[in-house]
Amino acid sequence: MPMLIGIDFDNTISCYDHAFSYAARDMGLVVGCGELTKEEVRTRVRSGPHGETGWQRLQGRVYGHYLEHASVFEGFADFVGSARARGHRLRIISHKTRFGHFDPDRIDLTAAARDWMGRHGFFDAAGLAFDPAEVSFHPSRDDKVAAIVATGCEAFIDDLPEVLLDPGFPSATRRFLFAAAGREDLPAFPTWAALTKAVLA
Ligand SMILES: [Mg+2]
Repeated sequence: MPMLIGIDFDNTISCYDHAFSYAARDMGLVVGCGELTKEEVRTRVRSGPHGETGWQRLQGRVYGHYLEHASVFEGFADFVGSARARGHRLRIISHKTRFGHFDPDRIDLTAAARDWMGRHGFFDAAGLAFDPAEVSFHPSRDDKVAAIVATGCEAFIDDLPEVLLDPGFPSATRRFLFAAAGREDLPAFPTWAALTKAVLA
């Protein structure tokens, strides 16, 4: 049976490990060399002299100014191809505010994300073949969950348990957590290869 599958964007489709590592150095928030994961950058910046404010400033810049350093998670394109071959429809439903905190450039983050998708073939018929109308951004988690309900997604993939376990999340929608580690009530799928098997099984 063809399904409507909803997918989160930040840290589910788009991988920011390199972007955080690069931006944190470029902004002088961490020193030294060697690639860091997003979690390592967060730990270092929060415990450094710039603290929580530095971390929020960095996030505001990564999702805009440094977005070109983000990549598409390995295996996502294969998932899209397999899902489309089985007749499933896909939606990208993202919680993203228009502007980041502490961003001096006031970059439009939703426009930046759409541009980034365009550069990565999301809207090419021969690429990932999304219609721009199948991508939506919502300014709060409540609005995002409401969009999941309104769209009628039969499955939803997200990196954040708090989205999938939100009280407003529709009970009939199957929940797939894209994360290294899950919880008793919410198993995790650490790669898109694992997600593809589970979602399209
Ligand atoms: Mg996310």
